[in-house]
Amino acid sequence: MARKPGQSATRTEKCAPGYAEAVASELSPWFRRRQRELPWRQSADPYRVWLSEIMLQQTQVVTVIPYFERFVARFPTVADLARADEQDVLRLWEGLGYYRRARQLLAAAKVIASEHDGTFPRTLDALLGLPGIGRYTAGAIASIAYDLPAPILEANTVRLLARLAAIEGDPTTAEVQQQLWRLAEDLLPRKRCGEFNQALMELGSLVCTPREPKCGECPLRVLCAAFQQGRQDELPTPKAKQVFENVREAAVIVEHRGRIFLRQCAAGQRWAGLWDFARFAVSAKRGRAFQQELISKVREQAGLDVERLEKFTTLKHGVTRFRITLDCYLAQCAKPPRLKPDSQWVKPDELVDMPLSTTGRKLARLLLAEKARH
Ligand code: SF4
Repeated sequence: MARKPGQSATRTEKCAPGYAEAVASELSPWFRRRQRELPWRQSADPYRVWLSEIMLQQTQVVTVIPYFERFVARFPTVADLARADEQDVLRLWEGLGYYRRARQLLAAAKVIASEHDGTFPRTLDALLGLPGIGRYTAGAIASIAYDLPAPILEANTVRLLARLAAIEGDPTTAEVQQQLWRLAEDLLPRKRCGEFNQALMELGSLVCTPREPKCGECPLRVLCAAFQQGRQDELPTPKAKQVFENVREAAVIVEHRGRIFLRQCAAGQRWAGLWDFARFAVSAKRGRAFQQELISKVREQAGLDVERLEKFTTLKHGVTRFRITLDCYLAQCAKPPRLKPDSQWVKPDELVDMPLSTTGRKLARLLLAEKARH
């Protein structure tokens, strides 16, 4: 069924004849003129495509560029990554957040080394069998590196496609996702699928922006239902507002004979694989009860008896739906330490090389600055 500009997509509608071709023919020349020079676009190496797509999940292009460059300088090929130590990978990832991505990247590289002779798989099914690779990432690698006709759907294209076809409803729901995937598939040209997918992402990122899309300079405006209906600011339908929860936590930097206590966060914990100071949720508000809570929680978590607790700083940060107030303390280890497994004492300057969470890194920097002053 033909959909004219201004008509909304229905749940069963396919693209009108000629519509996909019209989109591709407007988009390609625009992309060739306007695409940014990005380090991962210098080649169609599947390793670089994969790495960039994983880093770009939930993270802005400008933030990713230096991380990408450092990562490929250290691990130029998937074989180099497969041999890497997880700690080195996490240290390079530090600050990008969502550390599960880094661990799965390493796990997938090891699978490629052991099960695919070190060569990146070339089929969608084989790509989907790798840890951390879902439909979107598999589609991006297959289309960009191998020019296979695989659709993609990520934040920029969700927004662009929802507007292009005036698709109603929360785009995170299964029903709307299904419509969007189908549209992404229907729009794919027969050839140069990788270029087409990148053009969609680029247009979404540069022109069809979340707020105030630049419809006046959009090559697709005559084909865009939202623009024709004047609804580009209403679509995609906003998600229900996130409700945040305030949480109080404490971090205790425990010292013993000039060394600092660190523990490695276990699998399943926030920041699994990274190192951290003693850190836990607290309920007591202040005074003696609060001090007692800190002492008993350090004992429970780290197996250490601490004394001379001294307030160091307070940091505020967010993790998913939690808004965390982190009260940070310095303390001395009172008795000769009995270390639990996955714990260690490090010299202050060794903190620089340890993979830490963002707040752990902030604390480490503050601590080193404090020590440099004395
Ligand atoms: Fe987005 Fe506007 Fe282009 Fe439509 S015309 S795709 S709303 S930028």
